[in-house]
Amino acid sequence: MIRKYRYLILRRSLQVSLMFLYFAGNAWGFTFLQGNLSSSLLLGFIPLSDPYAALQMLVAGAVLSSDLLIGVLIITLFYISIGGRAFCSWVCPINIISDASNYIRRKFGFNKIQKKQPASRNLRYFVLFLSLILSYFLGLSAFEFISPISMVHRGLVFGMGFGYGAIVIIFLFDLFVLKNGWCGHICPLGAFYSMAAKFSLIKVAHDAQKCTACMECKDVCPESQVLFMINKESIPVLSGECTSCARCIEVCNDDALNFTIRNFKGEKNET
Ligand code: SF4
Ligand code: SF4
Repeated sequence: MIRKYRYLILRRSLQVSLMFLYFAGNAWGFTFLQGNLSSSLLLGFIPLSDPYAALQMLVAGAVLSSDLLIGVLIITLFYISIGGRAFCSWVCPINIISDASNYIRRKFGFNKIQKKQPASRNLRYFVLFLSLILSYFLGLSAFEFISPISMVHRGLVFGMGFGYGAIVIIFLFDLFVLKNGWCGHICPLGAFYSMAAKFSLIKVAHDAQKCTACMECKDVCPESQVLFMINKESIPVLSGECTSCARCIEVCNDDALNFTIRNFKGEKNET
């Protein structure tokens, strides 16, 4: 039973622990992790900065401090190594909300009623581009200004404020309007990390020999388009849109999906 949810338990533990550490840093002055998801300080001296937030600031005309640039470098290298969208499924608090909507959708068969999705998943790349254009013309970090991620995170750490509203809106939107609506279609931060994840070292690999085509993995995957190879080819999930949530690995009873270290040489030979 625990094996079936091992990664989910780890993800939730990490998400809640990080929120607690941020809260403790703010409320009680703990120095382990202070700040917010856009910019924080680890152990009181290691800067960690969201590269997308920094990019918006740069486009808006701000001069970036050396601390901020070091923080961007650390976070970029970290997510390039483990998979950019690991931020989404292992850190971002919105993921808990979108997973909850997804779960209810599956349980009540909403996905069978709404077979066709009314919007393209590429919309998020347009929102990303638009946020940079707006940052340039408005002279401020446009997405940071309205980001539900920041609202929910700041709400949890500093007191809810608009955070409740953001939680309810995303939950209902994902539940009734669009499957994986916010994270899979709109969020520009997810789109940004999808682009970074193209180069990541850790990937989910599929073994078509072991696959019995039950399609449970596609059913739970929040980005099921990335699993096009299921029961067809033994190749890794190379799309940066995979969130490394590992739900596909957990639900596969045939051990046909697992994390693997990427073999760039082998990929070249395959093409
Ligand atoms: S897509 Fe955006 S809101 Fe969703 S988990 Fe990723 S960063 Fe958070
Ligand atoms: S392919 Fe697997 S790890 Fe990637 S998003 Fe889908 S369920 Fe999660």
